[in-house]
Amino acid sequence: MEQQSVAAGRQEEQRENMDVLVSTQTVIHKALDKLGYPEAVYELLKEPMRVLTVRIPVRMDDGTVKVFTGYRAQHNDAVGPTKGGVRFHPDVTESEVKALSIWMSLKAGIVDLPYGGGKGGIICDPRNMSFRELERLSRGYVRAISQIVGPTKDIPAPDVFTNSQIMAWMMDEYSRIREFDSPGFITGKPLVLGGSRGRETATAKGVTLMIREAAKKRGLSIEGARVVIQGFGNAGSFLAKFMHDAGAKVIGISDAYGALHDPDGLDIDYLLDRRDSFGTVTKLFKDTITNQELLELDCDILVPAAVENQITAKNADRIKADIVVEAANGPTTLEATKILHERDILLVPDVLASAGGVTVSYFEWVQNNQGYYWSDEEVEQKLEDIMVRAFENVYNTAQTRKVDMRLAAYMVGVRKMAEASRFRGWV
Ligand code: NAD
Repeated sequence: MEQQSVAAGRQEEQRENMDVLVSTQTVIHKALDKLGYPEAVYELLKEPMRVLTVRIPVRMDDGTVKVFTGYRAQHNDAVGPTKGGVRFHPDVTESEVKALSIWMSLKAGIVDLPYGGGKGGIICDPRNMSFRELERLSRGYVRAISQIVGPTKDIPAPDVFTNSQIMAWMMDEYSRIREFDSPGFITGKPLVLGGSRGRETATAKGVTLMIREAAKKRGLSIEGARVVIQGFGNAGSFLAKFMHDAGAKVIGISDAYGALHDPDGLDIDYLLDRRDSFGTVTKLFKDTITNQELLELDCDILVPAAVENQITAKNADRIKADIVVEAANGPTTLEATKILHERDILLVPDVLASAGGVTVSYFEWVQNNQGYYWSDEEVEQKLEDIMVRAFENVYNTAQTRKVDMRLAAYMVGVRKMAEASRFRGWV
């Protein structure tokens, strides 16, 4: 019985992952249609050009050998090398990795980086593995995919449950295989190994800039604006801090266990101090509300920064924010996007809002290639220039083409890739 329900749960998960791929393809198709590209361009871009599945044998601490399955998807390298994170998670599937590689292509196109999208994943649960087992798995993965990756081919980075230590092992393994130091093989490294300043907070900084630009369009002042943030992990917690420091009133935050609400503004410094390394803090409080209630709070700006499928056709009518900025990947379904657009809620889509991370990853690669490193201020200024330009581009596309912001972002994101593929004579 229990086995059956596990299998059913897994099927449900795979269906959801498949939906992410299908909904991404749906919007890409629409974007290419609007831009007037022929069907052949869609046929090229609807799936990654290359997906490698690898089996990685790892000697565990108890002496047994466990064989892990990993993937690396490279969506399209017409513009330049592919780039994107590697996630370590028990729920990783090939379909999810494929969809995420397409999203990386779109993000790179939107912020105008010289990359296509890539993504990798290993089916594993790092929370139940020792430090040494994780090192052996990370090195084994690099050995398994080394033929198709490299600083001018495909550049990995951190993602869910991977961090700068894992990037350091992967870079070391790649450098050993190639027999020369290759910091530009991977980004998200520790500073001493060629990491970039500002990488850790890059996504939240980018989201903060997008909130600022969206607020300007709506004539809303950040000072005193009421902000609700779902998720208090890497993205959500830094964002809460930046918004608080900018004078906004963060009236709601949440984690996987519940949500906190105070219409007068929460004590963000206290919450940051008390949250654990998994982004959990609400367990310390008795007076909590649910995540669903949090999303429907009366506020000016709502930022889903946790997981997928949070704003759906079921609750989109009850969202009260004037601006929704998607820090998480895929928090709003396509039906909900339509409802929010019809209700004139300004939605800044994930592929634009969370592109700060890949932008600073690009800075890291540039610095590695030139062997010259930038200050915090330089990184911040360059990030701001790129993100603000991208916002304007997407916003103006939405206005002039009379489409919602998600479709506009896809139109901007897909265009360079389509053009580069055409110039290369692929389509
Ligand atoms: P994280 O693991 O550090 O934090 C996730 C937070 O969400 C935690 O507070 C967790 O408790 C909460 N959460 C988990 N399940 C939840 C649920 N069902 N309901 C409500 N809250 C829940 O993750 P992160 O790095 O902050 O990433 C969050 C989102 O932002 C993801 O969608 C991720 O893909 C996206 N993102 C992150 C980055 C980055 O650089 N960190 C970059 C781009 C996109």
